[in-house]
Amino acid sequence: MDLPRPLSHSAISMYVECPKRWWFRYVEKVPEKPRHFFSFGRSMHSAVEFFYGVPCPPPPSVEELLRAYKSEWVSEGYRDKAQEATYFEEGKAILIAFYHKHAKDFAVPLKVEHEFSAVVEGVPVTGKIDRVDELPDGRLAILDYKTGKELARNRAADDPQLTMYQLGCELEFGREVGRVAFYHLPTLEVQESGRHAASKVESLKRRISETARSIMNDRFDPAPEERKCLWCDYKPLCPVFRHQFPVSLAVAEEAAQAPEPDGDEKLSGLVDRYGEALARAAALDLELGELRSSIAELFRKKGYSRAFGRKFEAVVTRSERWEFRDKKKVLDLIKTAGLYETILAPSAPLVQKLMRDPGLDPGHRAKLEAAAELTEFSEVKVSPVVPVPPPAPEPGGALPLFGKPAKKR
Ligand code: SF4
Repeated sequence: MDLPRPLSHSAISMYVECPKRWWFRYVEKVPEKPRHFFSFGRSMHSAVEFFYGVPCPPPPSVEELLRAYKSEWVSEGYRDKAQEATYFEEGKAILIAFYHKHAKDFAVPLKVEHEFSAVVEGVPVTGKIDRVDELPDGRLAILDYKTGKELARNRAADDPQLTMYQLGCELEFGREVGRVAFYHLPTLEVQESGRHAASKVESLKRRISETARSIMNDRFDPAPEERKCLWCDYKPLCPVFRHQFPVSLAVAEEAAQAPEPDGDEKLSGLVDRYGEALARAAALDLELGELRSSIAELFRKKGYSRAFGRKFEAVVTRSERWEFRDKKKVLDLIKTAGLYETILAPSAPLVQKLMRDPGLDPGHRAKLEAAAELTEFSEVKVSPVVPVPPPAPEPGGALPLFGKPAKKR
């Protein structure tokens, strides 16, 4: 597949953490649930952007800043009104302190909330830098605001997000970045570092091109890990966890999120879901077989015929089955005993086999057909798609899409 969009730092991180999650987010475009901490971060970023968004000093007054904060406040994702009010007041206190710290030495930054686009190793990348300043020596300084409760020590020196911003900024402006920094708004503390070393930039470039290559090779395997999956919104849709959710829930979520597909897309989606359901059924069959054997083994060892779990009980019934390897000998014995008629009954598979035999007299076949009822069944078989190189387009024509028959010569 082609890259559905330029890669950002957060998209790369998501892919590296779990390709399947990335697929749900960026290919299937299933939105994630709103989270209060993201909403708080967006509200604070908008207010700071407003503060620095004037064309020249002075900055807006503290009242104007707080008015902008209130009008840009994002309310989604909070547990309840009380939690939202607590965060709102916390943000307000931070902004008042921020204003008093920075209004005195206010200077208009070179760029605020600057969205860059660049091409790295042939891969389109993008990102939004909160603030870009000009250093006295003409180089650039990058600043990213953080609103989480804490900021890890020395993070600015190592964080790949800042490396990405440094690279994007240098490619776009053609100027060297001399300093990168995080600004932790709750504590008004800046954590800064010199420009990230060339080795970090090279490793980021590798990460970008490896991620793009994996995406274009359709590699979207789930990478389950307790810490990541615990909060993943895609659990009800994820092949690893889907069986834990009622089918109706997963289907309802999908139906609610997905735009109404056209006929071919719908069919394609159903084929994939059918294949995935079969794979789950096969895994379940295997698990059931193993459980059955273990239970039967324990029943046998202990001499039980019934046992209880907390929710279910199991009862074992024993039966015997004879195997007749020498069928001709058995048939001769039955014939000799004059019992042949008692076991002779037309079985449907044998009669059907006879009807398909090209040597059968057509008159006999017609009589058999008249004596039976024909019911039509559809059997659907699915198997994993093996990627094949795309066929060359016909001169002047587009590649065939879904289900078009091949041209006859
Ligand atoms: S539940 Fe876990 S494995 Fe599945 S998509 Fe989410 S993060 Fe990936």
